Amino acid sequence: MKDKPIVIIGAGISGLTLCLILLKNGVPVILFEKEKEINQPGAGINISPNGNSILFNLGLKEKIISLASKPISLELRTHKKGIIVAKQNLNNSSEKFYNYPFLQMQRNDLIDTLKGAINKINANIIFTDYSFENFSEKNGSVLVHFNNQKSVEGSLLVGCDGINSSVRKIMLPNSKNKFSGIIAWRGLVDMKKLSSQTQKLSTTIWMGKNSHFVHYPIKKHKVLNFIGTLRKKDWLDESWHKVGNKKELENDFKGWNKTVEEIVKNIEIPYKWGLFERESLPNWISSRAVIIGDASHPMSPSYGQGANSAMEDAIILYRSIVAFKGDPYSALKKFQKNRKKRSENLQRASKFNTKLFHLKNPILRILVYSGLYSISRLIPFILIKSRWVYKYNAFNVRLK
Ligand SMILES: Cc1cc2nc3c(=O)[nH]c(=O)nc-3n(C[C@H](O)[C@H](O)[C@H](O)COP(=O)(O)OP(=O)(O)OC[C@H]3O[C@@H](n4cnc5c(N)ncnc54)[C@H](O)[C@@H]3O)c2cc1C
Repeated sequence: MKDKPIVIIGAGISGLTLCLILLKNGVPVILFEKEKEINQPGAGINISPNGNSILFNLGLKEKIISLASKPISLELRTHKKGIIVAKQNLNNSSEKFYNYPFLQMQRNDLIDTLKGAINKINANIIFTDYSFENFSEKNGSVLVHFNNQKSVEGSLLVGCDGINSSVRKIMLPNSKNKFSGIIAWRGLVDMKKLSSQTQKLSTTIWMGKNSHFVHYPIKKHKVLNFIGTLRKKDWLDESWHKVGNKKELENDFKGWNKTVEEIVKNIEIPYKWGLFERESLPNWISSRAVIIGDASHPMSPSYGQGANSAMEDAIILYRSIVAFKGDPYSALKKFQKNRKKRSENLQRASKFNTKLFHLKNPILRILVYSGLYSISRLIPFILIKSRWVYKYNAFNVRLK
């Protein structure tokens, strides 16, 4: 009898990565996405060495390198005067320290690369316009229901449906997202519109009071991507991201360094996101269902690890499934055991970075900034501090 497929919900970063690794290894799989088209404009993404170890091992090295930009350095600066607080050379140090590069690319290019690799193996695996509604587990299988399509039977359900996961809401009805009190402006600017001085900057983080602004080149330096985050009282919209108002964005970063003002002035479509967080969940699994990526452990963007850890989840879940073929519950327990602590540490570290970039107290700011200034002149502090994050290789880390 033919094996029932693993059913993946969501064609985002974790869902596509999991689909690709299963498909490459001959495990039956099928993926359902609620949108009619799979794309999400207007955002850049950091792929750190831990993420690239996955993409390269999936055979996507050439494609990713052809699309991504490689940052030369990372600079932390004060928001008005632009004083360099810390600088880290990134050019080839990432390969030297962690065997894989640090890259930056448009999120949509990553999605297209993963989707293209899947379609090359089998173009009938991804189904769009399928909005997950509910599921039930019985007789050694899982029945998955959609609110606009026929139900599907599978051996296992994997909720890769992002921060507002419907699979999570069924599995853990009491878990709720909470507005973090921080909003993020995101946008892309055509590099040609910017002054030569701004064009020359590599990854730069401008740190202000309760706010920070990050920008870096993507698309082989043709486009600049930025994220500006700051505290706001409330997020009243139903949707967690929307097209924002340029005047509001300009006001939010008025009086910042002229580089920041220049970038903001040249943005065509500013996107506004409410950043939501959630208490760590007690459990991500049931006997035949699991949530991974943002569905299980959303994190603030300040460490650039949401997508990287979503890919890590996908690979560790695949390895756990292979280790316990025919015994999904044991596979899911192994997956959770190997991923929960790391994901929680990443959530905490991301929150810490937001606090560091947003320091309010002027005395504390002077103390912390001078500490960072001194230490980053002595050692490659930023890379060393992130060793536990970047060195992780989901394909060969020893499973507990
Ligand atoms: C401002 C900002 C900046 C960021 N920058 C970075 C960065 O630099 N580096 C990094 O690693 N991460 C970054 N992230 C985080 C990263 O984008 C996410 O962590 C990552 O996309 C999570 O992947 P995922 O697969 O869990 O979910 P997603 O990629 O969000 O995918 C979820 C998918 O599920 C689909 N879906 C939802 N509901 C249903 C349903 N009911 N039925 C069917 N399909 C459904 C959605 O349409 C979507 O396609 C950033 C996030 C923010 C907000």
